[in-house]
Amino acid sequence: MLRLYQKAADTSYVERLQRFAEKQKAYLGLTAKPRATTKFAYFCAEYGVHNSLPNYSGGLGILAGDHLKSASDLDLPLVGIGLLYRYGYFRQKLGHDGWQEESYNDVFESELALTPVFDESGNRVKVSVGIRGREVVAQAWHASVGRISLYLLDTNVEENGEVDRLITGHLYGGDTETRIVQEKVLGIGGVRLLRKLGIDPAGYHLNEGHAAFSTLELAREHIVANPEASFAGAVETVRSKCVFTTHTPVAAGNDAFDPTVLAECFSNEYIASLKLTHGEFLALGRADLSDDKEFFGMTPLAIRMCRSANGVSAKHGEVSRGLWLKMFPDLADAGAVPITSVTNGVHAPTWVAPAFQNIYEREIGENWHELVRDEAAWANATEALPDDAIWSSHQVLKELLIAFIRERTRAKETGDIDTIHEHESTKGLFSPEVLTIGFARRVAAYKRWDLIFSDLDRLLKLVDDSERPVQFVFAGKAHPQDRTAKAILQKLMSINHDSNWQRRAVFIEDYDQEVARYLVHGVDVWMNVPRRPMEASGTSGMKAAMNGVLNFSILDGWWIEGYNEINGFAIGELDVEAESQMDAEDAESLYSTLENVIVPAYYSRGEDGLPTEWIARMKNSIATLTPQFSSDRMVGDYLKDIYNA
Ligand SMILES: *Cc1c(COP(=O)(O)O)cnc(C)c1O
Repeated sequence: MLRLYQKAADTSYVERLQRFAEKQKAYLGLTAKPRATTKFAYFCAEYGVHNSLPNYSGGLGILAGDHLKSASDLDLPLVGIGLLYRYGYFRQKLGHDGWQEESYNDVFESELALTPVFDESGNRVKVSVGIRGREVVAQAWHASVGRISLYLLDTNVEENGEVDRLITGHLYGGDTETRIVQEKVLGIGGVRLLRKLGIDPAGYHLNEGHAAFSTLELAREHIVANPEASFAGAVETVRSKCVFTTHTPVAAGNDAFDPTVLAECFSNEYIASLKLTHGEFLALGRADLSDDKEFFGMTPLAIRMCRSANGVSAKHGEVSRGLWLKMFPDLADAGAVPITSVTNGVHAPTWVAPAFQNIYEREIGENWHELVRDEAAWANATEALPDDAIWSSHQVLKELLIAFIRERTRAKETGDIDTIHEHESTKGLFSPEVLTIGFARRVAAYKRWDLIFSDLDRLLKLVDDSERPVQFVFAGKAHPQDRTAKAILQKLMSINHDSNWQRRAVFIEDYDQEVARYLVHGVDVWMNVPRRPMEASGTSGMKAAMNGVLNFSILDGWWIEGYNEINGFAIGELDVEAESQMDAEDAESLYSTLENVIVPAYYSRGEDGLPTEWIARMKNSIATLTPQFSSDRMVGDYLKDIYNA
């Protein structure tokens, strides 16, 4: 409160705030023309719009948030549907011994940027979904994402018993039944909510399989309205309206449920209302119809029920066609499988640091963010970007990152030794003059966190180099049930050698949108080492690229499309000869590229003291990658190729 009073006396601050408020008002009012009524409904299990609405776990949610933001900027008639999780996703802390501990915060709706939704008679808008003979009630909340409405359903209401109130308790927590019921609330409840709101969208975008039960509800609606219709007839209508995006290239990464548990979660009446037998119903979720032991997969259901399916990078499209070929026994080869791709993108105004936004305003125009897809505008302007402004802005952001690191890793109570996540004193930690590499992502086996320390001597030599040292900042969460991933984290925390490691490596706990922003603004190099071809797309590297941070990545996902030999660095080759050799070969490529290319390039300085070659690469990264990987380009592609609106 005191701070607010202080700020109110600061006229330049108040002026800036007023200017911002006016801009925001103009932005929201831009749609003078009546909004088109043919909306597309976008369904997703998580949304990462801003840290003040902690309703996401990672990449999928952030992507959904960026999708809505670009839809708002482009003024598309889109409406978002999701769930509100009372406890959100877990918060991460590491013990002195490096073992991950989880906790959940209670989210108080009244403190979030949300408003309750009421109908015309002033009653709270609620929907209900049947589960095991009970009617589970969910209430609706509204969030404004720019000009886009996002509606979230939450079952924490009086009408429900304790167990049901917790259905929307935790994101990706809970047992199979909880997951199924959550997804029923999202898919079936979501369609019912649209009806209560009087919204009849022209199309439905299922962003990942979690929302695929919505297609069943749409089929049921069709049959209710057309009692003569068969299920097959209903499917035809549903397919004409629904599109699906898959986000994982790993079979095990797709939601699939034990058919017995699934059948218990759907009443006989519901299945009968679809004019299906139990067997036919369960077959909707199978890739291989001859295997009645197969789990009920949300991806096969979505592929069956949607008119289009797409992966999130060209490579991921190809991998997905191979993965789901088994659903199309009549097709001769994977090339003919009807799965296309739209490569992901990120929302530039969200992810570009203010210091770089200022440069883009000067060099590209006040409306740089409206030109974000315009490749020519970026190519032309970037030639003109002044080296010293680029470098000094980057250094300021790096110093901000270092201040953040020192703040976040200072511990009141440390263990017996300093570790990379807690220090008693952080004064000597990190230097703005040292080449800084960022590595932040979920801790999962295929992301290969351990690749960088597979040869510890070689790593420490890089860190300890007296002339040209390297420092590392790490962040990322392991899934609470994934003990292998937690063990990898613990191993990283336990590196404690007679070296500078403890001063030049840090681990930032509780990776989230705010941590991500500091990192993608302030490091020099953004590293990514997934096992090919497991990275569907990856988006954090795009955020880094727009801030002039150079990517250093395996050629997988988006980087296959983005890399041009100047705008960053590749690890390994595009195609892998032998699977068994992959880790060893990639580790060798990782170390040797660091030693022979990246470190020399970073530390070589021109007469003016600036790293001229490095800055040329930064400019190339900004110019080539910003337009190509902006979410405006992505949403434009969806509009043109997928929504066909
Ligand atoms: C961007 C982002 C992600 C996704 O990035 P990947 O490159 O797919 O790992 C995950 N978490 C947070 C907090 C992010 O900001």
